[in-house]
Amino acid sequence: MKQSMMFIPTLREVPSDAEIRSHQFLLRAGFIKQVAAGVYTYLPLAKRSLHHIETIIREELNAIDGNELLMPALQPKELWDETGRWSVYGSELMRLTDRNSREFALGPTHEEVITDVVRDYLNSYKKLPLTVYQIQTKFRDEARPRFGLMRGREFIMKDAYSFHANQESLDKTYDKFVQAYTNIFNRCGLKFRMVEADSGQIGGSQSAEFMALAEVGEDTIVYSTTGSFAANIEVADLPVGAPSPDGVGVVDHAKGIEVGHVFKLGTKYSESMNAVFLDENQKKQPIIMGCYGIGVSRVMMAVIEQNNDENGMIWPKSIAPFDIHVIPVDVKKAEQLDAATKIYEDLKAVGFEVLLDDRKERAGVKFSDADLIGLPIRVTVGRGISDGLVEIKIRQTGEVFEVKVTELVSFIK
Ligand code: ATP
Ligand code: MG
Ligand code: MG
Ligand code: MG
Repeated sequence: MKQSMMFIPTLREVPSDAEIRSHQFLLRAGFIKQVAAGVYTYLPLAKRSLHHIETIIREELNAIDGNELLMPALQPKELWDETGRWSVYGSELMRLTDRNSREFALGPTHEEVITDVVRDYLNSYKKLPLTVYQIQTKFRDEARPRFGLMRGREFIMKDAYSFHANQESLDKTYDKFVQAYTNIFNRCGLKFRMVEADSGQIGGSQSAEFMALAEVGEDTIVYSTTGSFAANIEVADLPVGAPSPDGVGVVDHAKGIEVGHVFKLGTKYSESMNAVFLDENQKKQPIIMGCYGIGVSRVMMAVIEQNNDENGMIWPKSIAPFDIHVIPVDVKKAEQLDAATKIYEDLKAVGFEVLLDDRKERAGVKFSDADLIGLPIRVTVGRGISDGLVEIKIRQTGEVFEVKVTELVSFIK
């Protein structure tokens, strides 16, 4: 993509309402624009990064036999009355009324809708187990929307649901999700920790959270220094220095951002919504369920919170909006612009996603924008091009290499 054709509304000033670095950089680098409290437009660079995160999620969930579908945001009150959650969920539920006075919620989660989708179909043990997932916009009227995408009132979630004839089958799928989530967060470049969790509002028995480690995290992880125990403070309220729950270590605390959550729901929803199947003995049983969430937009923010310096973002290659930033220093010099354009085409031809800064801007502006946006590799085409040389800079380490333009593609590969 040519930068002159791309919508990247960068800001020079640090927005005053953005308290944490990832939020400041997402605003300053032109990734997001606030529309209302906790409601954002994802601008083109953010959309590209989200697309990569979603692709990683799809690959890992398809690999464990997940079926992708898409459910509506608009959910009728009647479904929520079946589980009692219309009254239990409280003021986080965004409610609205249609022109015929029918009440709806804008879905904060989809247990009711998915259980209604499958309850007529999953009527025999032969059709179980089943795993479905979607990547969809969720609505929660958070009491304190803050930190940009971290706690939005409208945000992107991947939610998945699994259905089983027996507990062993649920256990197996739950373990597969734990592995898939581990793969997903590793591939996204997150430093994270899986912790024991409270199953809260959704209900159920066993649950675990995936916490991206960050000082600004709103959750507190209680862990043993020997490494074998970690839980959300909501389930293990132990002070720093306490002997440890695992019998060997000492308790310490860390801050985390909840990026994923896996639950064994059991039969809470299937019993209240009468989702039953016939077992091998033709006996009616409630379907056993699991549910599994990832905060897709929150993941993007958490990655930036963990990967930045004073000049801007530092994207891991896997989810960067582009792989390479090609910068002709002076586009008025045909030699530089032509060489940069050729490099741009050559790199694209071998499969890289490339951003070419063909704008008529001063070099200083281009370099500071490039640092702010933080693509993994920068190729600068300047005076050296008359000797057939370009400069490569690695955003993460700051390393700089002078490379022959003829060897550029193989150098980067
Ligand atoms: P939190 O404890 O942060 O409020 P939650 O436990 O209410 O999150 P879940 O119901 O487990 O959230 O939803 C699944 C995932 O959706 C969470 O693990 C998180 O990554 C993401 N998520 C939840 N609320 C928000 C929000 N307001 N903005 C962005 N992402 C969110
Ligand atoms: Mg919440
Ligand atoms: Mg939580
Ligand atoms: Mg949760």
